[in-house]
Amino acid sequence: MAIKVDKDWRKKEESYGEIVKKYPTISPFIITQIDVQRRGVEYTRKALDQVDKTIHQTGKVGEADIPVSLLLRDGTSICTSIFSEAGVNAPLNQRDRYLVDVVDDRIVLVDEDQVIDEVFYWEKPRYFDKLTSNGTPMGQVVDARPQRFHINMNKYCHFWDTPGHGCKYCGIGASGQKFRGCANELVNFDEVREVMQEIIKEKGRFTGVVLTGGSILSGDELLDDELEGYIKTLQAVGTAFSTKKFPSQVNSTAFNERQLIRLYEETGLTSYTTDFEVFDEKLYQWICPGKAHYLPHEEVKKRLYKAVEIFGKGQVNTGIVSGVEMAEPQGYQSEQEALKMNFEFAEELASHGVGLKHDVWNVVPGSIFFRQSTPSLDYYVHLTKGFYEIMCKYGISTEMDNYRKCGMHASINMDRI
Ligand code: SF4
Repeated sequence: MAIKVDKDWRKKEESYGEIVKKYPTISPFIITQIDVQRRGVEYTRKALDQVDKTIHQTGKVGEADIPVSLLLRDGTSICTSIFSEAGVNAPLNQRDRYLVDVVDDRIVLVDEDQVIDEVFYWEKPRYFDKLTSNGTPMGQVVDARPQRFHINMNKYCHFWDTPGHGCKYCGIGASGQKFRGCANELVNFDEVREVMQEIIKEKGRFTGVVLTGGSILSGDELLDDELEGYIKTLQAVGTAFSTKKFPSQVNSTAFNERQLIRLYEETGLTSYTTDFEVFDEKLYQWICPGKAHYLPHEEVKKRLYKAVEIFGKGQVNTGIVSGVEMAEPQGYQSEQEALKMNFEFAEELASHGVGLKHDVWNVVPGSIFFRQSTPSLDYYVHLTKGFYEIMCKYGISTEMDNYRKCGMHASINMDRI
């Protein structure tokens, strides 16, 4: 369902150019990354003609092969999800999208007829189109971003099993899986083992592997089945390494102390994330009702602090879907108040050694929040700067998720400067 662009939106907030001038210590690449993730992109025919399926990672929208995402000249990744309903890589919001076009033989981002910068399409690793012995394309078992490998341990999130429990900004509804699960939910551990043998032949740019996936609430104790899934997947990944530990991260539902110890001791895992999603407790209950039901705000905090004890400072962080704290009608009405809340809570977490990252909220078609609008570019740049400064103040390294390892989260993408 299309949302009408507010034709006056540019009059209501500072422009990209004004924000670049206002924040001289923030790289324009990071500001571009944030704004493109916030507003989304559309491709011209000429830009799509530059897609080469033998080289680039693509997804289908109708008949078109669309690049899965973009890369800037300094290596900053811009994740631009593909939503077929909208027909383009497009979050729904009231602002115009950036245009990806070809000017002077270069693929560029364009806004109001002005070239912002050159962009590149993500390239595929060599193993991507090879098949496992089950006939699955290897890229479907282990995905890749420009800097790292990515495994989706579980394709379905069981918060959706209970009506009203899914997170309100969540895109799972967009893929039609809401309330009904999916077949072959878990990754196939034998296939992971097989793909890893191909992956280690790959030269160059990859620095580690990140595992994530939907929540699994079942087991003897809450989340025990999810824990087993991560342990088995990590053990399959570990067959490619001769050392016990290898550069890796799990982003899971918040495990308790016993589960975290097992995850650390029984696998090669080096770093851990569980996303808070929303720092304000009341809004967390409204926006993530399933999570809040099983894992109250205070409990997530305790589990994160335990994770720091187990994995070490600098090896644990947490993320928020930044901007949802301003969703109507219960969210903050003022960007200043929302920033203040985020910084106060971030400071409390960082004082216990927890690192901070934020994803830029884009309004996903099919999500409960599909009619909402995201905050201004100024809000996001201010948040990015603030989170980074808080991490520096408490001596928390960005290394586990920095630009060499992920580059997706603006606040921890700043260490290159
Ligand atoms: S935890 Fe929330 S955001 Fe994550 S997949 Fe489940 S419903 Fe979606």
